[in-house]
Amino acid sequence: MSDCIFCKIVAGEIPAAKVYEDQEVLAFLDITQVTPGHTLVIPKKHFRNLLDLDGQTSTAIFSKIPLIANQLKDKLGANGINLLNNSEEAAGQTVFHTHFHLLPRFDDQDGLAITFATNQPDFDELGRLSQLLQIGE
Ligand code: AMP
Ligand code: ZN
Repeated sequence: MSDCIFCKIVAGEIPAAKVYEDQEVLAFLDITQVTPGHTLVIPKKHFRNLLDLDGQTSTAIFSKIPLIANQLKDKLGANGINLLNNSEEAAGQTVFHTHFHLLPRFDDQDGLAITFATNQPDFDELGRLSQLLQIGE
């Protein structure tokens, strides 16, 4: 995709601070550094987002994410890692080339808050959704 900024990074047309690279996968530092070491892991081939990623590329990416996450944790002394993907505008996607954010987390207040509300479980609703969402083999 000629107008895709991440395809341009893959092609070497614009610079990136690379962390990992192989034939199918590239990881580089996010320019905004939400936490220190904030890294993006992308497929070299252009896919819009998680929703159209193919199986082979998913395997290539997810087989490398633990390696990259552990490198960030070990070298930066992080206490944990968040893995985040935004797919489509409703989810906050701004660059439409699939990417996974790896966010190193630090015990001493790194300024990032990702919280889930703790609601009372509705088991009837969970059962209904489970039926709706069944995927056969
Ligand atoms: P998202 O909102 O999930 O689409 O995230 C896009 C991310 O790409 C943002 O966190 C940006 O800071 C990052 N970004 C945009 N352009 C570049 C670039 N040239 N190099 C590194 N990161 C970038
Ligand atoms: Zn692209």
